[in-house]
Amino acid sequence: MEMIQTNRLDRGFFRYQEEFEQKALAVLRSGWYILGKEVAAFEEAFADYIGTKHCVGVGNGLDALILAFRALKIGPGDEVIVQANTYIASVMGITINGAVPVFVEPDPFYQIDAERIEEKITERTRAVLVVHLYGQAAQMDKIEKLCRERGLKLVEDCAQSHGAGFRGKTSGSFGDIGCFSFYPSKNIGAFGDGGAVVTDDPKLAESIRILRNYGSEKRYYNKVIGVNSRLDELQAGLLQVRLKHAEELNAEKQALAARYQAGITNPLLSKPMVREDADHIYHQYVIRCEARDALAAWLKEKGIGTIIHYPIPPHLSEAYRYLGYEKGSFPVTEKYADTVLSIPMYNGLTEEEQETVIRALNAFQG
Ligand SMILES: *Cc1c(COP(=O)(O)O)cnc(C)c1O
Repeated sequence: MEMIQTNRLDRGFFRYQEEFEQKALAVLRSGWYILGKEVAAFEEAFADYIGTKHCVGVGNGLDALILAFRALKIGPGDEVIVQANTYIASVMGITINGAVPVFVEPDPFYQIDAERIEEKITERTRAVLVVHLYGQAAQMDKIEKLCRERGLKLVEDCAQSHGAGFRGKTSGSFGDIGCFSFYPSKNIGAFGDGGAVVTDDPKLAESIRILRNYGSEKRYYNKVIGVNSRLDELQAGLLQVRLKHAEELNAEKQALAARYQAGITNPLLSKPMVREDADHIYHQYVIRCEARDALAAWLKEKGIGTIIHYPIPPHLSEAYRYLGYEKGSFPVTEKYADTVLSIPMYNGLTEEEQETVIRALNAFQG
């Protein structure tokens, strides 16, 4: 039998093959490939989808984070509070600007523990970076209020939460800036690299628009030292097609998740918990198991792929050894790193495949 992989991007492509191919051909034939009408059209449609006034396309999700902090003038001497159990790009967005990440443990839903932010605020704290990890929004009511009261900027890492909501608002529209990645496996994915920032603040949007293009607004007139980080016309065109189907694609993942929630009954496994009032879009379906490595091996033997998001938390990675943390610094985060497992979850996963996964999970005896 064919292996059931953790993710399959071909199925998402073939479902809308004709639309994607038509758009790609149109862009190729247009003779215009960088910063043209496709990028402008996507930026407008994406801002509308998230519910912000502005969107600026950039090269990838990491650049979205880097440019967001740069536009906010957060750098050396500043501290940014971020959850400890994130993908390392969230942290790099902070440190590449010379600022210091200050880690906070996650809550049982895998996002930053809103109750543990305040104790980490110092006179150097400038911002909180919230990561809506795995596709579920953080406790945004409390976090927004805290940031407002303490005069902190609020930045959202929405690389895993395209369309994920909390109390009627979409992630990316809560903070000063929302940062998105369109890496192919994300809920809205391109066919290469891509990213965007969204904001209601016209000055921040303008600043990022200038920074992404060598610091220039007008060709060959450079105001600041910028970077080259542009969403290209081909990706922007293809992303318009993806965006048009975003709601049905997210709904499909939610239906898949509901089937897992109902079908997985093995007491050795912890299923994801959904926050009250949160609209989880299941970028990943992440379970936990004390015997995680044995479980992964068991599934592999049965032809089922899994992946760990993420095996090494940023504070224990070699890249961040200079911050001086050691094992035990963030026990909740480290416990999650040792026990989480992402099981197959993608658009086009069939009912039959899912039944095979559920049966294998329930048959696991540790
Ligand atoms: C994917 C991801 C990023 C980085 O996006 P790229 O487009 O790969 O640079 C940042 N943060 C999180 C949480 C991610 O999952």
